[in-house]
Amino acid sequence: MPNPKRRHSHSRKGRRRAHDGLTVPSFSSCSNCGTPKLPHKACPECGYHRGRQVVKAAAD
Ligand SMILES: [Zn+2]
Repeated sequence: MPNPKRRHSHSRKGRRRAHDGLTVPSFSSCSNCGTPKLPHKACPECGYHRGRQVVKAAAD
């Protein structure tokens, strides 16, 4: 079985993990109903995107 020849240093471990942080997803509010929604996505509540209804609303 292949095994690591040397252990990685603490700083090398830290450098690898420098990019492991989680980010909070950004939200924008729907221009039609004001519900928080993901940017560049149709509103989950009313189905509106860029000022017109593009998908069927969740609750008609
Ligand atoms: Zn909406």
